[in-house]
Amino acid sequence: MSESSPDYSKGAAYMNGTYVPISEARIPVGDWGFVHSDVTYDVVHVTDGGFFRLEDHLDRFHRSLAGYRLDPGVTREQMRHILGRVVALSGLQHAFVAMVSTRGVPSVYGSRNPLDCDNTFIAYAVPWVDVIKPEVQERGAHLLVASVPRISPRSLDPTLKNYMWRDFTRGMFEANDKGFDTAILLDQEGFLTEGAGFNVFIVKGTKVITPDRGALEGVTRLSVLDICPELGLEPVVGPITFDDLMDADEVFTTTTAGGVMPCARVNERIYGNDRPGPISAKLKETYWRKHKEGWHMTPVNYADADN
Ligand code: PLP
Repeated sequence: MSESSPDYSKGAAYMNGTYVPISEARIPVGDWGFVHSDVTYDVVHVTDGGFFRLEDHLDRFHRSLAGYRLDPGVTREQMRHILGRVVALSGLQHAFVAMVSTRGVPSVYGSRNPLDCDNTFIAYAVPWVDVIKPEVQERGAHLLVASVPRISPRSLDPTLKNYMWRDFTRGMFEANDKGFDTAILLDQEGFLTEGAGFNVFIVKGTKVITPDRGALEGVTRLSVLDICPELGLEPVVGPITFDDLMDADEVFTTTTAGGVMPCARVNERIYGNDRPGPISAKLKETYWRKHKEGWHMTPVNYADADN
């Protein structure tokens, strides 16, 4: 690397039409993405040099953009190219790759009209991250059902990906104070929703059940639902009460940044032998094995870094 060439080794970003090292990627304080959390995003992962379910992430990102009435003026084909290029520039084989659109800075100072803003498109690739630390996944995460309920879906549609995490953050502080790894939230009627950056599943007999409400339609969740039949398991999307959670055989969580993440405890309830349950472990193993076999993988064109 010459002295003047940018250092992408810690990650690469695309902003305002240019590629920059991740440490130089920043948004203006006047951007509504910052001042009003008026932003949407999606995260896809790269393992062994390939994107996992890229088209599913792009589909969901487009649903989120439409839901928030954001239009960054970038075609889907351009997005695919930019996402590939940030990964290629970083050279990362295992990466957390985000696409973001903020409302932008209003062209008229102090405007309260969202139509005065030029919406942005930002993308970046950084080294792989685990939402729940690998050693915690190994022993089985300890989850707390937070006392704060999830914000009503009538106010914030949880199927549109967003950064409005006030309820989750309160839950995580509570979990931390009480010695748990992280929090999961019930909705205002007492049904299970999700956690800060992950979906939740319970296992009961051969049924593998995830909430039908109050949650993002996770791509990892979809992958687990897809895998269940081949393991002789019945995937179910349905309501889950607190009692169902306590009565479950196993609990696990899912996310792009971590995959299938088994749990060992929820509140005072300890599942099995206080270790990841056998079905959760089998789903986790199958999920990663299928990655190795190229399931839903799109190879990154690393040569694109040179163009
Ligand atoms: N729920 C929330 C609130 C999330 O932020 C995420 C991922 O970031 C998920 C669930 C899991 O979704 P996916 O599997 O698509 O990463």
